Amino acid sequence: VDQKALLESAIRDIPDFPKPGIIFKDITTLLNNAEAFSTLMTHLKTRYESYNLDFVAGIDARGFIFGAALAQMLGVGFVPIRKKGKLPSTTVSEKYSLEYGFDEVEVHMDAFGSDKGAKVLLIDDLIATGGTAKAAASLIEKVGAHCVEACFILGLEFLPGIDSLTELTPVYTVIGV
Ligand code: IMP
Repeated sequence: VDQKALLESAIRDIPDFPKPGIIFKDITTLLNNAEAFSTLMTHLKTRYESYNLDFVAGIDARGFIFGAALAQMLGVGFVPIRKKGKLPSTTVSEKYSLEYGFDEVEVHMDAFGSDKGAKVLLIDDLIATGGTAKAAASLIEKVGAHCVEACFILGLEFLPGIDSLTELTPVYTVIGV
């Protein structure tokens, strides 16, 4: 089977979640499908093994699943970028706007080590408006590391998020919808 078709068919649409009118892309059906999950992770390993990364940073919470698996496959460390108030040590934070109000992501100040310019791959399951990922990429730079690429399993190409994030870092999406 075509790999992209396998991955596409493993992700399901849930209408009206979390609010009426929103079609939620559900990746739990990719995760519980051993063939699809393995195909995805092998694809990402092949892409990123030539990047000489120092860390993979995953965005709370689904970015942790793909990010931790990939970091282990590449033999590099994993760093969680979390929603405000979850990390126990000294953090640096970045606010970003939502449709109503704002949210905030944080990273441990010392997460990427003491050497400046550590090469970091940012990963999440999905990019929509790009607000979350822009804040996360900014955080990586704020603490003295370098975001070499942002990777998403799904990119919503009808929204300006990918173009907007491209101003900060190169963007790679496995599947565009
Ligand atoms: P953005 O900041 O608008 O780009 O939204 C991206 C964030 O919201 C990511 O952390 C995603 O996990 C989450 N998200 C938004 N829409 C969906 C969806 O349809 N499925 C899964 N996650 C979503």
